[in-house]
Amino acid sequence: MVDASDLAAFRQHLEGASTVAITSHRSPDADAVGTSLALARYLRAIGKEVTCLLPDAPDEALDWMPGVQDMVLFDRHPGEAQEALHRADVLFALDYNGMGRLGPMADAARSATGTWLMVDHHVGPEDFPMAKVHNPQCSSTAELLYGVIAGLGGRDVVDPVMASLLYAGMMTDTGSFRFASVSAETHRVIAEMKDRGLNHTAVHEAIFGEQPMDRMKLHAFAVVERMEVHPEFQTAFIHLTAEDMARFNYRAGYTEGLVNKALGVAGVKVAVFAKQSTDRVKMSFRSVGNYSVRDLAEQHFDGGGHNNAAGGASTESIGVVMARLRGLLPEIAAGLAAAEEKA
Ligand code: 5GP
Ligand code: MN
Repeated sequence: MVDASDLAAFRQHLEGASTVAITSHRSPDADAVGTSLALARYLRAIGKEVTCLLPDAPDEALDWMPGVQDMVLFDRHPGEAQEALHRADVLFALDYNGMGRLGPMADAARSATGTWLMVDHHVGPEDFPMAKVHNPQCSSTAELLYGVIAGLGGRDVVDPVMASLLYAGMMTDTGSFRFASVSAETHRVIAEMKDRGLNHTAVHEAIFGEQPMDRMKLHAFAVVERMEVHPEFQTAFIHLTAEDMARFNYRAGYTEGLVNKALGVAGVKVAVFAKQSTDRVKMSFRSVGNYSVRDLAEQHFDGGGHNNAAGGASTESIGVVMARLRGLLPEIAAGLAAAEEKA
């Protein structure tokens, strides 16, 4: 899965480095946080000084991940984050393909002087890294990172903790091993991690086992009160206003998975979830089949991602965004029809 020449470049850049900064994307998910912490463990095992940086806080459902409390959050400690970015000989970009995905941390990252390396699986990477392990067909950054660590000779460093961090990314990015991105290699990586003591049920329990009552109520409210299904366009939307989220004491991660509720409605092929945050409306796009929501997100909402799972954002009000989405229904239906013809 991982190219020998890319590995050789990684090895060479790491050899001369003593300090490493690991960065991942805004609104970090399990793949972003799990890979950051797993890579940090590997790099520390080979003697590097490592700082993990995130633009903002991860979902509380990831609080169980060992090391998550030590990650430097740019929005809370910009000075400390900036310092770590500037001090690093090598900087890793994990699970994102462009500096824009760092949001408020982007400018500080751009001015870092160390060597950038990337491990990612999103289509169309920017060219700032000196070397990258990149494969948009791969299930997750975690699967790619396992290949990097193993390829660099680090199989022995993979302990049950590191395995659980990588497994969390693989599990969540594949919808619990359901999406087409799952390959024989995905399962081979997991088989190797099982041999090294992975407790996979503990990871499922930690992420999906239980949830705060408020979160469950927010999901129920969103489905009952804020979901609109447009059967003639095979499309469903869910939106949440800032007031909706305040009513259920919203916390990071509470809306994770909500878009799949819309996608799960019988007959729905395209789903969009939109939520109002302080400075913007953030959207999640999902599709089943050949129709690419990445193109939709990219063309209309400055976004990107994968063909069947993408994201975007707008500085317009939630009302305007929803009106624009409704206006796009005919275009979505035409796209679905064209994709079906191609299939
Ligand atoms: P999610 O809806 O789970 O937040 O994101 C779905 C996919 O789209 C993920 O692969 C994520 O990295 C990507 N994505 C989410 N938001 C954005 C965005 O604003 N810009 C780009 N380029 N990709 C995004
Ligand atoms: Mn990912």
